[in-house]
Amino acid sequence: MTAEARRCHPVETGGMLVGWDDFEAGHLVVATIIGPGPNAEHHTWGFTPDGAWQQEQLAQIYLATDGRLSFVGDWHVHPAGGFGMSRRDRRTMAATVDEPDSRLAVALMGLLAQEDEHYRLGMWTLGDRRWPFGLPNAVRLPTTIWTPTAGEAFWVRLGIA
Ligand SMILES: [Zn+2]
Repeated sequence: MTAEARRCHPVETGGMLVGWDDFEAGHLVVATIIGPGPNAEHHTWGFTPDGAWQQEQLAQIYLATDGRLSFVGDWHVHPAGGFGMSRRDRRTMAATVDEPDSRLAVALMGLLAQEDEHYRLGMWTLGDRRWPFGLPNAVRLPTTIWTPTAGEAFWVRLGIA
């Protein structure tokens, strides 16, 4: 993520979060990411991913893991800083989770915000409380570095850190 953020600075970039929802453990694992793709358009405020390329990457990962890894959310960069979800970010999260063929149980957005010389990473979901114009508020999720358990070791073999 950071490498991609630096590559595109000062314009915005992002992509997909790929992993799985571990309902039993009550957490969501982000095992890898997919970048914006070669034909993505990057702007100061926002970017348009190369959707066809992303779907192809996602399909490859899905097949290679017998469907254990799939799309769990999006991520993007705030090149000018601002560690929080904008109105537009909340709209994106709501649209993604509401999509008819989305199998997501919860909205998830990763954010990499520039702060001085480094980047700060956070994860957000949508809350229940609705602001004017019908958009739910954004709630920051507690995160930890994931250490694969024996049962989750399959992802290491893919070499997709
Ligand atoms: Zn944003």
